[in-house]
Amino acid sequence: MTTPTDATYADQLDATDDLAGFRQAFVNDDPHLIYLDGNSLGRLPRATTDLAADLVRRQWGSRLIRGWNEGWFDLPERIGAKIARLIGADPDEVIVADSTSVNLFKLIIAALRARPGRERIISDDLNFPSDLYIIQGAIDMLGAGHEIALAYSSDGIHGPVETILGLLDQTTALLTLSHVTFKSGFLYDINALTAAAHAVGALTIWDLSHSVGVVPIHLKESGADMAVGCCYKYLNGGPGAPAFLYIRRDLQEQLVNPIAGWMGQRNLFDFDLAYQPAPGLRQFLTGTPPVVSLALIEPGVDLLLAAGIERLRAKSVAQTEYLIELWQQRLAPLGYTLNSPRDPARRGSHISLGHPEGLGIDLALINELGVLPDFRTPDNIRLGIAPLYTSFRDIHTAVERLAQAVTEQRYLKYRDHRPTVT
Ligand SMILES: *Cc1c(COP(=O)(O)O)cnc(C)c1O
Repeated sequence: MTTPTDATYADQLDATDDLAGFRQAFVNDDPHLIYLDGNSLGRLPRATTDLAADLVRRQWGSRLIRGWNEGWFDLPERIGAKIARLIGADPDEVIVADSTSVNLFKLIIAALRARPGRERIISDDLNFPSDLYIIQGAIDMLGAGHEIALAYSSDGIHGPVETILGLLDQTTALLTLSHVTFKSGFLYDINALTAAAHAVGALTIWDLSHSVGVVPIHLKESGADMAVGCCYKYLNGGPGAPAFLYIRRDLQEQLVNPIAGWMGQRNLFDFDLAYQPAPGLRQFLTGTPPVVSLALIEPGVDLLLAAGIERLRAKSVAQTEYLIELWQQRLAPLGYTLNSPRDPARRGSHISLGHPEGLGIDLALINELGVLPDFRTPDNIRLGIAPLYTSFRDIHTAVERLAQAVTEQRYLKYRDHRPTVT
């Protein structure tokens, strides 16, 4: 059956969506704005605005230094334990700290030191560039002759799984990949690749930034060694919210945080001059956490837990399928290409559409047509679907406006524009 392209059909899908009510849990000042960038910066939960006022005015303003004993000190573990439920980990296997990039750096150094004599780190060319810079920086800092072996995707869309499997051998110290790749949205099989890495004695670090909160993840079951992830995308933690890291329970005492700091010290208020790592994951803290932005992660995570990750995934798949159906009928004839996997089992929750006039179209959508997607070079218009608050009608409207941007040649006037953040 061909999917109907009329708006009434989108409204019918919304009417039978049992997660539709969650949309009301988010601030939405402009009902005409179609927001499709929740994979880059999640919307603001209403509960977060109240919590922010309480944190700043009461907790900081009135409680002052007492706040540390009234909840601030335990925030990294307490919120980590909630995130653990989203990624199939035990409560003591996840902690919130620093940024994704910094956490990745800490874990890479720790992993390489735990595999002496093995020089190779395997990753792919679909990985987020920051992750590759971090790997290279860690290699340079260690100065121990490590090297990156990069697997290349044949089409820029699908992860080079076979190449990765072929690269894994006794020289491999570490395999590190983005679970969902940031441009095409390709979804790796954590279980299969972790098993293959373990078969040659290598460790794994998964970057869950584009999958946490929309794709069910079973870290413990998969045997994955380590993971990092971002809290300001589908977790709705707010711009620059600190990130999380995961280390499998039985590895926690074997790995050493290379950025030792007082927050990771065993009895920090003894102010001992010699560093003694705290037990468990706490040793992976370095300095004082950014309490306000850390605390503000919680309402978004609570909403995801209330919705349930399996239901979120089911809606996300239905919505990306719907978007692809509309692309096929309405946008492919206008020159748009599908730059994401066609198989829903192999993709996350965003869809990239290519077009030779991609950047101009993106800017026309933002400046004139009331749609906020984002753009990734060379020609990807990324449409992020956040099943907590994206409606089927949003997707329908976005497709109509993508069509309009081309039929009315709205991209023409943006040909010379180069914005800082795309
Ligand atoms: C968003 C994202 C990051 C973000 O890193 P920051 O340190 O927060 O800037 C890292 N890796 C991946 C794969 C991402 O998608």
